[in-house]
Amino acid sequence: MKTIGFACTSADVPLEPFTFERRAPRENDIVMEILFCGVCHSDLHWSKNDWGWTVFPAVPGHEIVGRVIEIGSKVTRYKIGDHVAVGCMVDSCQSCDQCRKGEEQLCREGNTGTYGGFDRFTGDYTLGGYSKHLVVREEFALRMPDGLDLAKAAPLLCAGITTYSPLRTWNVGPGSRVGVIGLGGLGHMAVKLAVGMGAHVTVLSRTADKAEDARALGANALLVSSDEEAMKKAASSFDLIIDTVPVKHDLNPYMPLLDVDGTLVIVGQIGPVAEPSTVPLVLGRRRIAGSPIGGIRQTQEMLDFCAAKNILPDVEMIRMDEINHAFERMEKADVRYRFVIDMASLAAA
Ligand code: NAP
Ligand code: ZN
Repeated sequence: MKTIGFACTSADVPLEPFTFERRAPRENDIVMEILFCGVCHSDLHWSKNDWGWTVFPAVPGHEIVGRVIEIGSKVTRYKIGDHVAVGCMVDSCQSCDQCRKGEEQLCREGNTGTYGGFDRFTGDYTLGGYSKHLVVREEFALRMPDGLDLAKAAPLLCAGITTYSPLRTWNVGPGSRVGVIGLGGLGHMAVKLAVGMGAHVTVLSRTADKAEDARALGANALLVSSDEEAMKKAASSFDLIIDTVPVKHDLNPYMPLLDVDGTLVIVGQIGPVAEPSTVPLVLGRRRIAGSPIGGIRQTQEMLDFCAAKNILPDVEMIRMDEINHAFERMEKADVRYRFVIDMASLAAA
């Protein structure tokens, strides 16, 4: 089927309207009309080829909420009219130990990205959610819980699950002391989710500018990471720190903040960080870890958790043709706290 979207044709040009083909639905596929799509910092990295493996033309977008408009002959989970969502993956091998555990993000063969992946049957390059339609196998579509605001919920599909998953991996609950580095899209979800799990939450931001916001999001405190005195005082006071910083940075100032057996988990920068000293790691039995999105089962659990606790991202709705300006603002950390594209604006664009 023909559809429309926004794509960039190289790393140094803006995104523009783009017409392309979506595959005809296979027997286990659903066809979605996309209603809303969140704007993740990964979309910006992808468009600018920051990771070095973008294939152009590239259509970003992996925080996708829509409505089912067609189903394949063997689809059982969804019917036409259902509200569904798709995050960062659209397929995996489904048979390795990780897939069988519901950890498709860790598929031994590699999961198929919603954009920038290769279709497992045709080899076609996948194109993301800055578009009118998406065709996806039903196992990779999530059910939107009744009552969850569809526009606001879109960022849960990446920012939500990427921060929910490490909170669960490290068993965060009442009494846990959680730090969140970087108050952006991922960071503000980490705060809301950790607060929802009963943790004591501190935001670590470069300045005090977001102190009021941090409190409004439910955090107990904001620690200014450039304030050496305050950082010294906070030594050994965290069980888990979630690091969402999107660029190369220095982990050394953060390591002493962890208590014995504490973990700093990187969910932001994919690539090099400044050389970490092993001194605080070895002497304090501290850890550095990483974590990618989350599995389909856990993504559904996260959506249901958010619906039950009424946890929703703070969003600024934009039109599709405002995306290039939104990217510029995101680069300057000028977004409180996630842009969401109203896809109804695509036709006009
Ligand atoms: P974002 O909304 O732009 O937020 C990033 C935050 O990091 C900013 O608000 C800012 O917070 C801080 N920051 C920005 N530039 C910085 C710098 N130069 N030095 C130190 N701190 C800086 O980005 P996002 O959408 O949350 O994404 C964050 C990162 O996560 C991206 O790199 C993205 O690719 C990655 N990501 C990873 C996964 C995964 O599976 N692991 C999934 C999604 C996204 P303050 O102003 O408070 O300091
Ligand atoms: Zn993302």
